[in-house]
Amino acid sequence: MSAFTPDSFIVTDAVPSPNHDARKQGRAPDMILLHYTGMQSGDAALAWLTAADSKVSSHYVVFEDGRIVQCVPEELRAWHAGVSSWGGEADINSCSIGIEIVNPGHEFGYPAFPLRQIAAVISLCRSILTRRGPINANRILAHSDVAPGRKQDPGEKFPWELLSESGVGHWVRPAPLHLDGVSLKPGERGDQVKRLQRVLRGYGYGIEETGHYDEPMREVIAAFQRHFRQARVDGMADASTLLTLRALVETRPKPLA
Ligand SMILES: [Zn+2]
Repeated sequence: MSAFTPDSFIVTDAVPSPNHDARKQGRAPDMILLHYTGMQSGDAALAWLTAADSKVSSHYVVFEDGRIVQCVPEELRAWHAGVSSWGGEADINSCSIGIEIVNPGHEFGYPAFPLRQIAAVISLCRSILTRRGPINANRILAHSDVAPGRKQDPGEKFPWELLSESGVGHWVRPAPLHLDGVSLKPGERGDQVKRLQRVLRGYGYGIEETGHYDEPMREVIAAFQRHFRQARVDGMADASTLLTLRALVETRPKPLA
């Protein structure tokens, strides 16, 4: 792919990736999907995302120092989500803009995200929202939200609260960890489990209403915790997790017309 003009003035460099195609049915993006690179260096990640044989890419890569590189124009379909689903939709690459945030990830010690880098991510998201028209706050998501069984990124150290304070994403203050009240555990079956699956599915998670707290459900609860109740990520639907989910659902932004 030849050079292109970046979509935003805050982009430092354009490094084209050949790994893209057209958005299916001309789908306009209405989701922002955040990732970490999960490789030992940002340069290695950028090389991988722009190598023809990797078959992966993202629209943007945000380095630790805040530098933003664009690899695929927003109007095209980058290949970052893999097998995923949200709100009943499976072709997440067609409906989303992908941002890779340089961080070596859980496999390599998972350091905190520098504030300079987070500020750049916020600016980039705000630029997308301003230029492309409104994107519903509850469609600014983690890779782990749309692929809970396969992915953990950007993980439980990602500061969603800071993004939300800047008007990026839907977030509520999590309920404290140690609370009395209803909790559900892996292996349980019944109507309470089914109701919880329905609530998670209603928010967007790809989960079936089986009434069985099986491994896929444990993975969805862990994904929810990684994003919304980061103090403990264990896949257990404890009282704090359930209260946080309820507060999230009650404050869910209305769908955009
Ligand atoms: Zn990812």
